[in-house]
Amino acid sequence: MHELGITQGIIDRAREAALANGGRRVTDLFLTMTPAADFSQESIEMYFEMLAGEDDFFRGAALHFDHKLVAATCLSCSDEFNTDAPQPVCPQCGSLLVQLDPDAPMVVLTDVGIDDAEDDEARSAER
Ligand SMILES: [Zn+2]
Repeated sequence: MHELGITQGIIDRAREAALANGGRRVTDLFLTMTPAADFSQESIEMYFEMLAGEDDFFRGAALHFDHKLVAATCLSCSDEFNTDAPQPVCPQCGSLLVQLDPDAPMVVLTDVGIDDAEDDEARSAER
């Protein structure tokens, strides 16, 4: 269950990014997953709820998932292609001996939506 550590890492990075930008709260987390991940989007959502559900800094925050293709190489015929499958089949020769790009990230935090209290005050002062 290394998703626990991965999710904790995402939470830590989101918190750092929000604090660095003067945020008081994280409202949205934008994540990109690739088929190199050996876990599902649902398990990240579950661990996020478990780890950050009680955390005021993340209260009500939404996870947004984007899915990216990953480069793969067929070990039988050396064909190179992009795939969204964790265990792809070579489109050239039908081989199952396909290696995903070993450098492909499993899940990346691409953006963080923050609530920054000063903005709120500025907006209410205008009203
Ligand atoms: Zn092949």
